[in-house]
Amino acid sequence: MNKIGLHNAYWLDTEMVDAGVYKWMELAKQANCEVMEIGTAEIVAMTNAERLEFKKAVADAGMILTINDGFTKDDDIAAEDPAVRRRGIERAKRILQAMYELGADRWSGINYSEWLRHPEVATCTPDFKAHVRDLSLESMREIIKTAEDCGVDYCFEVVNRFEQFLLNTAAEGVQFCEDLGSPRAKLLLDTFHMNIEEDNIADAIKFAQSKGRLGHIHVGESNRRVPGFEGKTNMDWDAIMGAVKESGYEGYIIMEPFMKMGATTICCWRDMSHGADIATMVGYAKDGAAFLRSKLA
Ligand code: MN
Repeated sequence: MNKIGLHNAYWLDTEMVDAGVYKWMELAKQANCEVMEIGTAEIVAMTNAERLEFKKAVADAGMILTINDGFTKDDDIAAEDPAVRRRGIERAKRILQAMYELGADRWSGINYSEWLRHPEVATCTPDFKAHVRDLSLESMREIIKTAEDCGVDYCFEVVNRFEQFLLNTAAEGVQFCEDLGSPRAKLLLDTFHMNIEEDNIADAIKFAQSKGRLGHIHVGESNRRVPGFEGKTNMDWDAIMGAVKESGYEGYIIMEPFMKMGATTICCWRDMSHGADIATMVGYAKDGAAFLRSKLA
């Protein structure tokens, strides 16, 4: 059965937001998750010795570490300015090297351009989109060699139209992977984004997997609550998890819920946790993991 994970962004706007990698690992384990997912900042900041120590702690806890996040305006590998692209390329190499030292083999996110990049409406023609996509591909041709050397699956997160404009559907993502042409070029599909952009979530999962490009999955309800949180919702979890099973996808399924108000880049403008404290939040995640496993059984 697919291993279930918890993204540490779950702790945004709680007192655990800066608790650090060891505490996040403990919380994920308490929630019965087998995978912990964190951002790149922590692992890049570690010394080599700290990485070895953390790698051992993850293994001793019987956990798996995955990495998720991408570029900003200052290091967008698809930026017009070559100096900005170069900063991004070099940052990607540092991240991949850190992952190699940590034994982490999956980096997902908007790691092909800038998260929340919105082109000028008046100038965003098909030609402009193709041009930016080419800039990303050109940078990726250099970065993907490091991913291959480091044994990392480089998973491009397909996101909804309000968060990026290059890859909004699994079909666009698969084409991007094929144009790049590396076996390490993969996709992250996320139910929250697919619910907005795909005609059918289950079909998108099956399509990406059939093309050999499904590398990672994020799950959440359509309002980004923990899967199964409030009973029956818009998400057809039987169909979604059925597609995971049927397609033969054996990778990880990471819960990426946002339940607290105030994470402004996430745009959650109300408390969706019923005022939960940390122990209750852990309980919600634990229930979510059990819910997903019940659908996969
Ligand atoms: Mn996601």
